Amino acid sequence: MKQKAFHKLSYGLYIISTHFQGKDAGYIGNTAFQVTSAPPQIAISCHKKNASTEKILQSKSFAISVLKKETDTSLIGKFGFMSSDETDKFLHLMTKTATTGAPIVLDSTIAWFDCQVISTHDVGTHILIIGKVLNYDIISDEDPLTYDYYRAKYKMLAPKNAPTYLEKNLSEAETQNSEQLDQTQHKNEPTPAAREQTEKSTATYTCTICGFQYNPEEGDPALGIPPGTAFDDLPDDYKCPICNAGKDYFRKD
Ligand code: FE
Repeated sequence: MKQKAFHKLSYGLYIISTHFQGKDAGYIGNTAFQVTSAPPQIAISCHKKNASTEKILQSKSFAISVLKKETDTSLIGKFGFMSSDETDKFLHLMTKTATTGAPIVLDSTIAWFDCQVISTHDVGTHILIIGKVLNYDIISDEDPLTYDYYRAKYKMLAPKNAPTYLEKNLSEAETQNSEQLDQTQHKNEPTPAAREQTEKSTATYTCTICGFQYNPEEGDPALGIPPGTAFDDLPDDYKCPICNAGKDYFRKD
């Protein structure tokens, strides 16, 4: 059995939010799916350790903001890798208050749904929460962000609390195994010094906070860093485009 089979399931990415006792809470989730059309009902799967989960259960409501394909990556860092208990994720964001009181995030969002919780199911690490859709609307006709696109573009793993989280070592072991199957013998081996230089300039580095991977082949054109820039040659004030962590937080892969 290969864990990567689970990567073949398709998902979108959403900000799931709620409002309880005067505070907003929310997280990035990929599990939000319509379960019936009459009445319209949507299910979400929430990790029991997510600060937002308890608040959704208490408020008995949640909103879903559907993210657009080219979403501001700081939103992903903030809602995917920080806790609502420690930071006000909605500060400085454009929001609209839904009927249930849940904040709908308007930045990078193309559609939203406002839901009332009608049933919950304990599924172990997560709670499956089913909501009746009370209100919804479209903000833009842009394409939605899919989980597959996000994973391919940012080479990132799911946050640990995501229902689709896979152990990195397990996933990498599978990749190495399949690469070994394709390996062929090379006759003209480079010298150790040349190999070290090549490895240094092509090595990828991963942010230990959020899992974003910096790839020298691609650089970071959005930040003015051209393809071919080795990690060592990045400016000292380079920050992870997802979670804003400094270079010190990156480790060589
Ligand atoms: Fe990061």
